[in-house]
Amino acid sequence: MLSDCEKCWDTPCGCGWYYRYHSDEKFKALVDKLDEGRKKIRASPEFKAEGARRMREKAEWQVRQSKWAEEQAKMEELRKLYDPTTGKWRKK
Ligand SMILES: [Zn+2]
Repeated sequence: MLSDCEKCWDTPCGCGWYYRYHSDEKFKALVDKLDEGRKKIRASPEFKAEGARRMREKAEWQVRQSKWAEEQAKMEELRKLYDPTTGKWRKK
């Protein structure tokens, strides 16, 4: 078996199918264990550093996007001034 679950193919199963025969207690214990694991991961410096890195990348990306939009607007202005049928620049 490649994964725990034949329905969602996630390991551990994310859809609940894999736990369908688990008793309530066993299921709750499993959920608690998963939560515990998630908390540990979130509290780790690696996770926090990764989060900070992604925020930084997103901010950089947004700057690039707005610069790109500015460039596009400038190009659009130039396109309006240029007449491709005559190959000449229109006077403003
Ligand atoms: Zn599943």
